[in-house]
Amino acid sequence: MAGGLSIGIAGAGLLGRLLAWQACQAGHQVTVFDPAVDAQPRYDGQGAAAFTAAGMLSPLAELDCATPQIARWGLRSLTLWPQIVASLPQAPFFAQKGSLLVAHRSDLGAATRVLSRLDHAPPEMPPPEALTPAALRELEPELHGVAHAWLLPGEGQIDPPSTLLALHAQALQHGVQWAWSCHVQQLEAGQLWVAGETQPRRFDRVFDVRGMGAREAAAKGHSGPQMPALRGVRGETAWLHAPGHGLTRPVRLLHPRHRVYLVPRPHDMVVVGASEIESEDRGPVSLRSALELMSAAYSIVPALAEARIIRLDANLRPAHPDHEPSVHAEPGLVRINGLFRHGWLLAPALIEAALNQAGWAEFTPSLPKDPVYS
Ligand SMILES: Cc1cc2nc3c(=O)[nH]c(=O)nc-3n(C[C@H](O)[C@H](O)[C@H](O)COP(=O)(O)OP(=O)(O)OC[C@H]3O[C@@H](n4cnc5c(N)ncnc54)[C@H](O)[C@@H]3O)c2cc1C
Repeated sequence: MAGGLSIGIAGAGLLGRLLAWQACQAGHQVTVFDPAVDAQPRYDGQGAAAFTAAGMLSPLAELDCATPQIARWGLRSLTLWPQIVASLPQAPFFAQKGSLLVAHRSDLGAATRVLSRLDHAPPEMPPPEALTPAALRELEPELHGVAHAWLLPGEGQIDPPSTLLALHAQALQHGVQWAWSCHVQQLEAGQLWVAGETQPRRFDRVFDVRGMGAREAAAKGHSGPQMPALRGVRGETAWLHAPGHGLTRPVRLLHPRHRVYLVPRPHDMVVVGASEIESEDRGPVSLRSALELMSAAYSIVPALAEARIIRLDANLRPAHPDHEPSVHAEPGLVRINGLFRHGWLLAPALIEAALNQAGWAEFTPSLPKDPVYS
């Protein structure tokens, strides 16, 4: 598109970086505003939730607490992420080897209840496959004490920190302006207000992708009525360095009290997550959460005994009351929020859906179109 449009994006988290990356490749002039001091993660509970995320891309497993539409967007994202990461510098880690649901012997009842909720999967999604002990041993020999296991074929994972940094780096190379230390207080069609400035910044189109920051602005009376109520749902993770841990795919332990997952990452790392607490506390990880997450993980992967705790991290998932994402589109303004615990799973497909809703499908010619929009 010759000359392109001027685009203002409020928020440099997952949605903001992905939008900026797409828009600059389409030849638009993009400026991204964010209160962070730079593009790097701080792991202090204040920045983008996207850096804290485990990066599981689990359309089927998420049906435990999500609608079939979320699963459908997830499936679509799973076709887009490989193309996105392959085009980024130093191709961030992405894998699609399926994921495992596992349960201790006494927890078959809890596991069966979860599996019954996965029955609502869209028909194009392959169903869970029950694994014999021998099949499980072959897939993940380091798992122990597990009596029941299912493979969810086709599920994937991505490495959030390196993907976020690569999106930023490539967008920077393509001329995106990153306005750090900037709080956007309010957005309207074609303009946004940065705290401390008297005049609005004007653009052809603006995007409100501030995650929890949109709620904080709304609390100060700065947001329009278009966005349903937002709340933060606290999540905590433990990042372990565990040479020789042997895990090759994400594993979820089904348990009546804990929902614990282990996500292997490059460089011998395993992320154990995540608590889900109705609290907007952004403070450090609690002793209870750390103990529960790591004991559950160690109970099924004894090879973690000597793992080193590299980081305990906490952040807030931006959630609407119904746990569904929201898209508001009007001429000159798009707001996307409420990605809750599925942000990485949803982001590429949800951006595509939002741009189609806004009638801006030409905005991102770099990715192949979903046939449902043609
Ligand atoms: C513990 C945990 C585990 C998770 N695991 C997964 C997972 O395995 N798979 C998955 O799919 N999802 C996961 N998620 C969810 C995912 O991280 C979120 O859904 C996603 O990050 C939301 O993206 P976002 O861009 O809306 O918000 P964010 O990533 O939070 O980004 C919002 C950005 O807006 C900026 N901002 C705030 N206020 C302002 C302002 N006033 N002006 C301008 N900018 C502002 C922030 O600084 C931030 O950079 C997890 C989340 C948590 C907390």
